[in-house]
Amino acid sequence: MYKDVNVENSVLEFKGGFVLICINFNRTVRGLDMAVPKKRTSKSKRDMRRANDHVKMPNVSNCPQCHEPVLSHHVCPNCGTYRGKTVILKEEA
Ligand SMILES: [Zn+2]
Repeated sequence: MYKDVNVENSVLEFKGGFVLICINFNRTVRGLDMAVPKKRTSKSKRDMRRANDHVKMPNVSNCPQCHEPVLSHHVCPNCGTYRGKTVILKEEA
């Protein structure tokens, strides 16, 4: 957050009790203070933002070859086929 602030140099420049003042001065001059919201977010706005904060169910279908559940647009992890073609050769034990 305070990338460019060289605390050690500023401490050397302003000795003793001026350390804290100096650090604040350095941050303010370089514009590195944290962004602070001007107004409190209303319950409505907060809830509108959070309306999409949920985990979505993955798109699962069944493999046409082995009928195991497969993520759509993914190679079947069970038989190694995709759209009817063998993509990954499975070693048969
Ligand atoms: Zn399969």
